[in-house]
Amino acid sequence: MPQPRYTTVPKYNSRVLVRGDVGYEVCRCNNPTADTPDRFPSEIHVVETPTDVATALKRATELGTTVGIRSSGHIMNLGNLIQDGILIDTVNLNRHINYDPVTREIAFGPSCRVEELAAKLKEVNRFFPHGHAPTVGSGGFLLAGGQGWFVRGWGATNQQWILKMEIVVPDGRTVIASRTENQDLFWAARGSGLGFFGVVTRFWGRTIPASKMWERILKFEVNSDNYETLMTWSIERGRDTPKYGTDLNLTIDYPQKYDPAYTTDDVPPGAKLHLTLNLLCYTDTLREARTLLSAYDNMPENVREWLIQFHPVQSRTFEEVFNRKRGFLGNSGKERWQINSIMNDPAVPLPRLLQAIKPAHLELPTRTTSVFMCHCDIVPDEEDAVLSLPQDLYISTVTGWTDPKLEPAIYQNMRDHYRRAFPVAVGQYITELDVNNDDANTKVFSDTALAKFLKIRAKWDPKELFPNYKKFVQAHDKINRLQNKPSL
Ligand SMILES: Cc1cc2nc3c(=O)[nH]c(=O)nc-3n(C[C@H](O)[C@H](O)[C@H](O)COP(=O)(O)OP(=O)(O)OC[C@H]3O[C@@H](n4cnc5c(N)ncnc54)[C@H](O)[C@@H]3O)c2cc1C
Repeated sequence: MPQPRYTTVPKYNSRVLVRGDVGYEVCRCNNPTADTPDRFPSEIHVVETPTDVATALKRATELGTTVGIRSSGHIMNLGNLIQDGILIDTVNLNRHINYDPVTREIAFGPSCRVEELAAKLKEVNRFFPHGHAPTVGSGGFLLAGGQGWFVRGWGATNQQWILKMEIVVPDGRTVIASRTENQDLFWAARGSGLGFFGVVTRFWGRTIPASKMWERILKFEVNSDNYETLMTWSIERGRDTPKYGTDLNLTIDYPQKYDPAYTTDDVPPGAKLHLTLNLLCYTDTLREARTLLSAYDNMPENVREWLIQFHPVQSRTFEEVFNRKRGFLGNSGKERWQINSIMNDPAVPLPRLLQAIKPAHLELPTRTTSVFMCHCDIVPDEEDAVLSLPQDLYISTVTGWTDPKLEPAIYQNMRDHYRRAFPVAVGQYITELDVNNDDANTKVFSDTALAKFLKIRAKWDPKELFPNYKKFVQAHDKINRLQNKPSL
């Protein structure tokens, strides 16, 4: 049966959907990937209040099962779908954004999307670093860390911007977590992503006055021979660029990715990869923007010869970026996606890093597969949050396909490329931990942060209502075993 198209505003005729209900399968499959696995929760609770959440948790206990949570479904391996479990869908939970003009804080529910936050902030002329893609929900984005706008200087959104959270904990109570209330819960919630052991029903975040966004774009033809030259130049110029107020992104893809004339997964014969730098900054004037992005001015000849397009620094709006990204995951409802990632070990020299990630960047198995890399420069503070790995560069490949016959081989291709990059990685961004297959999974925290997390988790969720943390433990054990082998 073809899967209905993904929508951010689904309508269901009941708050509790069970197998056989009209809305059950529509809801189960309302994910940005058409590749919904054959895992069928016993019930889906489309919650509207913290009380509904408590009811869903109680129901899981009655059924002797476990719980998954969905805010927008952007984790493609869909660990929130648990066979015979309970799925809590927060799509209608506090789905509004309030701005308090006295405290200048915003408060919002977990399913409020990036574009909804952006619209509210525009209305009140304030800034808060939400994500970059319009349909991503706040829940998973903020629990994971949040590589938000201009993350380089301002840190992960949950490090510097989130002040408190309202959470329904496994025993059904609704509590507040902040730096002064339930500190251990607040510590564990900021970075544990899909392994968190409660349901966040509301976030409060600080805001600052809005400024203006600017963008400079450079596009090159990239191939196996010039890869090292172009990547080295791009990354080094990024490192020369001031961290505060800049957002530096690199993509590699086939230009045919977005061309509607192409409908199959095959890479068109003779297609050439393009490497694009989308260099953004946030500052009041064009003159300042030009200075902020000036590290890319003087291009050496061996880089310039591959330049195929450039746009000088120009004004850019969030809406324009969202519209560009809206097509990123396709629009037909047939697209299937897998995302793999690492964060580089900052101690590894750049040539070694490039050697390790080159296959994941150039051997793209389908026409719609693409690479996304950005400078994050996130410095962890393990005392403050479980987010504990340095995030220098976020390096990922999004594999895209439409033909289910390519499965399962298609999954393994990129898993193998990323597995081979383990020796140059400090770990991976937690959102890409694959609950279906451990091959490309690596560390998501420091070992000390994991040990502390496990203790806090056991205190709040002794009956293990939320099971996905076990995947962290499995990946850490594997990597520690590998690191103890002299061959790695
Ligand atoms: C196209 C695209 C663009 C992206 N852009 C960015 C970006 O710019 N910056 C960035 O940092 N990340 C980005 N991401 C990654 C994204 O932030 C993560 O996939 C995130 O986990 C999505 O959260 P979600 O709640 O929307 O997704 P979901 O898949 O619904 O949730 C992910 C997991 O988070 C947990 N969770 C969700 N809601 C709650 C809740 N209310 N309470 C407790 N646990 C919950 C669940 O365990 C769930 O399995 C992007 C992803 C995609 C696909």
